[in-house]
Amino acid sequence: MEPQRSPLLDVKGNIELKRALAKAPSRLPLPGSRLKRGPDQMEEDLEPEKKRTRGLGTKVATSHPRAMALTTVPQTQGQTAVLKIPRKTGPRCSTAIATVLKNQKPGPAVPAQKPGTTAPPPVVGRKKPSKRPAWDLKGQLCDLNAELKCCRERTQMLDQENQQLRNQLREAQQQATALGAERRTLEEELARMRAQAEKGQRELGNLSAQVLELEERLGTQEGLVQELQKEQLELQEERRGLAALLEEQERRLQASEAALSGSQAEVASLRQEAAAQAALLAKREERLHGLEMERRRLHNQLQELKGNVRVFCRVRPVLPGESTPPPGFLLFPSGPSGPSDPPTRLSLSRSDERRGTLSGAPAAPTRHDFSFDRVFPPGCGQEEVFEEISMLVQSALDGYPVCIFAYGQTGSGKTFTMEGGPGGDPQVEGLIPRALRHLFSVAQELSGQGWTYSFVASYVEIYNETVRDLLATGTRKGHGGECEIRRAGPGSEELTVTNARYVPVSCEREVEALLHLARQNRAVARTAQNERSSRSHSVFQLQISGEHAGRGLQCAAPLSLVDLAGSERLDPGLALGPGERERLRETQAINSSLSTLGLVIMALSNKESHVPYRNSKLTYLLQNSLGGSAKMLMFVNISPLEENVSESLNSLRFASKVRSLPVPSLSGLLGIIGFSTPTLLSFRPGGTVHPEWMYICQASGALPTWILFFFFFF
Ligand code: ADP
Ligand code: MG
Repeated sequence: MEPQRSPLLDVKGNIELKRALAKAPSRLPLPGSRLKRGPDQMEEDLEPEKKRTRGLGTKVATSHPRAMALTTVPQTQGQTAVLKIPRKTGPRCSTAIATVLKNQKPGPAVPAQKPGTTAPPPVVGRKKPSKRPAWDLKGQLCDLNAELKCCRERTQMLDQENQQLRNQLREAQQQATALGAERRTLEEELARMRAQAEKGQRELGNLSAQVLELEERLGTQEGLVQELQKEQLELQEERRGLAALLEEQERRLQASEAALSGSQAEVASLRQEAAAQAALLAKREERLHGLEMERRRLHNQLQELKGNVRVFCRVRPVLPGESTPPPGFLLFPSGPSGPSDPPTRLSLSRSDERRGTLSGAPAAPTRHDFSFDRVFPPGCGQEEVFEEISMLVQSALDGYPVCIFAYGQTGSGKTFTMEGGPGGDPQVEGLIPRALRHLFSVAQELSGQGWTYSFVASYVEIYNETVRDLLATGTRKGHGGECEIRRAGPGSEELTVTNARYVPVSCEREVEALLHLARQNRAVARTAQNERSSRSHSVFQLQISGEHAGRGLQCAAPLSLVDLAGSERLDPGLALGPGERERLRETQAINSSLSTLGLVIMALSNKESHVPYRNSKLTYLLQNSLGGSAKMLMFVNISPLEENVSESLNSLRFASKVRSLPVPSLSGLLGIIGFSTPTLLSFRPGGTVHPEWMYICQASGALPTWILFFFFFF
């Protein structure tokens, strides 16, 4: 038997229950899908219930369709309300209990039923005993016992109810725990989902940026594709053009191949022909070389026939400001063939004031006739003069020493003839630049035949028997220093000037530069009183060396071009002051060297055993250009002025003397009879060969030598 509990305990227990219920996280779960709802939703669901429960304090839960039937017993003092609680318990049980508890308090009666609502059926309770009279204590006790019993039953029922509710509460708590766990899981899942969503957002952002970038790239690529398509179109066009061209080329190639096969046969025959031609060419080259050697030999013989010592006379024109000579002062008689013949004679008229006639009238002028290898009247230009000597220059290239002098008084045109006129006018270029240009050009031609030539130039001045370098540069410029003439080595025939520059030249410009330098050096040495250049000999020498490597041939010879010092004599009536004494010494040195030159030429012509080369620096320096097979040409330069007649006569006489030197002896000529007829014909007592004789020589080249020999002597 369960101990009886007081109503206060029940009330207290109900209050605790109410608190526990109020503290419960949620109402009991509804079956089915409500469990799946989130905690928030569940809260929301609970809220109206709470409200409703609260409202039950004043309102009986009659409005709830599922509310338990509840009978409110008006309480009076000493009475207990009789509650009829349905056996059926459910989720709304706690609400009912709360309502009961509230109703235990003295309070207002059950609220009036709302109009329009169906009132629940009235609870059929125990029939209320009629009020016992005060004296009926037994009856009252009985009632109280009945009531107690009823209360006990009710308490028991409530305990059971309580137990059920506790069980339900436990279940609800378990469910709440499970739901809490589920909620946490869901929250975690939610957080995870959110994180994933954020990550997804970020990725989406990145992807959007990538998409933008890709779109941009796509745009660029599309532009590129368009360009490429355009280019492709162009290339296709070009390809079509090239294909057409290729077709054309192929057609041509086929035609060419056809022509080629035809040509190949031709080539084979041409090759045979070429081989034959090459053999012929080799033969011709051989012949050409033979002819070249023969040409050299004949050229040399021709020069010898013309005379190894030749004299040309050149008369310069009257210069502006000079007095014109009287008519007939200088005459140039024509040759045997008339005016077309180049002049070789010159006659000079001199009126001798010392001579007189018996009548007292002035004596007729004396005519002096001279004959030379060639006479150039004043009108002859530099080119005409050079033409005459170009053959001689050729001899130098063939390996024969050649020496050309310009002799005459100061102002007669020696420097003009050798170096040229002032101003660098090509028309008035002298023999030196012209000769070198000719040499360079012929050497170039001969290179085709296998000859290689080299040229080394030197330019010195001999003044008062001292040698000075005209090509000196730097500190030696203008002074030159002392130069000596020495043999190149012991036992060597070659001569060299110490301290002098020997400059290799290969073109005209280099020669021009050297001549310019020489002029500068002379200008530095010039003084007001003494035009030193006219008082010294200028010697331009070119060492020519040729080699034919293929045939092992060599040739070497010097070409010397000498501008001699003025040949005038000192005026005997001149007072001998210090300047004049110096001038006298100069003149003596000049005269001595010029007469030595004459003697050397004479000794060479006479084939004397001793040639006085050493008597002057000039002849000593030129000895290799004078002896042996050397060719010598002397220009005698004449002034056209009457006032220079005396010096002109002296010059002409000196030149005539040089020219009239004996020709090679008969025995010498006989030595070369076997080589050529022109050599034989050159033997003519007392003179050189006249051009007419040469024409005969050339025409009669085919005749046997002995016939000509017979014809000539008999
Ligand atoms: P040289 O050297 O004998 O003393 P130059 O050669 O200096 O004489 O000549 C003297 C002057 O005469 C110069 O002004 C020169 O230009 C001039 N002369 C010489 N020969 C000729 C010529 N053939 N034609 C024109 N002028 C000449
Ligand atoms: Mg001069």
